Amino acid sequence: MKIDHLGIATKEIAEALKFWEDALGLEKVHTEEVEDQKVRVAMLPIGETNIELLEPTADDSPISKFLEKRGGGIHHVAVEVENIQTSLDKLKSEGTRLIDETPRIGADGCLVAFVHPKSTNGVLLELVQKIS
Ligand code: ZN
Repeated sequence: MKIDHLGIATKEIAEALKFWEDALGLEKVHTEEVEDQKVRVAMLPIGETNIELLEPTADDSPISKFLEKRGGGIHHVAVEVENIQTSLDKLKSEGTRLIDETPRIGADGCLVAFVHPKSTNGVLLELVQKIS
């Protein structure tokens, strides 16, 4: 397994890029809107992993709620797994609280599913399976 990306909630991706691109020197390689999750995302590779900037596209986006409560910051950690359904089934059988019991389509056409922070000591965990 490896960390696929760190999801960071921002009010505006353009504003956040002033730090991550201009000041720090990372390069945005991909942006897209994930309608299902009501977010716009920008991916910036860093080593073997990525920074994922998240901007809400609607008032009822999960990111809007996060920004209201905390004003931005690390929103989730995403771990790449080989077979997401197998991982979900295993977690469920061990009593882990899942937000998604079946995977959905995330950024870049990957399969994704979220694990509830109540079961992970307070970290919203995203499982990602790459579709190549
Ligand atoms: Zn993510």
